[in-house]
Amino acid sequence: TTFDVSCRTLPLDGAPGVMLTFQDITHLEQAGQMRRDFVANVSHELRTPLTALLGFIETLKGPARDDAGARDRFLDIMEAEAGRMERLVGDLLSLSRVEAEERVRPTDPVDLPGVVRSALNRLAPLAEEAEVALDLDLAQDQLEVSGDEDQLRQVVVNLVENAVKYSGSGSEVRVGLSAPAYQPRLRGQGVVLSISDTGPGIEPIHIPRLTERFYRIDNHRSREMGGTGLGLAIVKHIVNRHRGRLRIDSAPGKGTTFRVILPIRA
Ligand code: ADP
Repeated sequence: TTFDVSCRTLPLDGAPGVMLTFQDITHLEQAGQMRRDFVANVSHELRTPLTALLGFIETLKGPARDDAGARDRFLDIMEAEAGRMERLVGDLLSLSRVEAEERVRPTDPVDLPGVVRSALNRLAPLAEEAEVALDLDLAQDQLEVSGDEDQLRQVVVNLVENAVKYSGSGSEVRVGLSAPAYQPRLRGQGVVLSISDTGPGIEPIHIPRLTERFYRIDNHRSREMGGTGLGLAIVKHIVNRHRGRLRIDSAPGKGTTFRVILPIRA
């Protein structure tokens, strides 16, 4: 615990007195530390691809100048590294936008089954390339929630993309949307969007930390898959903004299920 202590003299019944004030500033200290950690993480994440880019530029200007084969290979790597920086900057912008808007509840009517379908259409080529079967199970075709359509689509895209990426060839990803019912976690009527995979599953110790920015179970694997480490942090903020809940159920060897519980539109 951190206290800020201040001291003031003041007259007390005609005699000089002293007033000491203790203010608990632990939460401010913690917020400051989180901000410093975040800036350090972002700098590190940007520096890695930048260093690679500068290295390849140097090589292309020098030793590989007249080697057409090397030039093509290096340009491919440079393109991938620049792509990684672009994704990171895009995710940082998304995160700061949802954070800024978190207190304002979005109120547009959104056709949730339509959003789920369009997200899956967008991801079909990725699933095909990864040899992952993508199944959709909609309990109902017409269902409205109050929200922000683009952000809800981003939730589905991020969760399904992770399920496809981390499960790998031969696995199955099932996306379901339940019919409206009373949801104890919302203390009201809601729907459950679930994304289940038959991938490797997650050790219990990691689960509570998955939605922290830049938290990855396997840094190397995540980077190799093109991950920024921000996908689930973005999902959590969007779900909070919609006054919903996020649940993660997983066990090593048993696959993973992410559930997003959203209030339905009255
Ligand atoms: P990333 O860009 O690394 O995918 P995310 O915030 O989307 O970042 O996810 C954080 C971490 O959670 C990932 O690095 C991965 O280790 C783990 N993860 C997310 N989804 C799954 C899943 N469906 N199966 C196994 N691990 C997962």
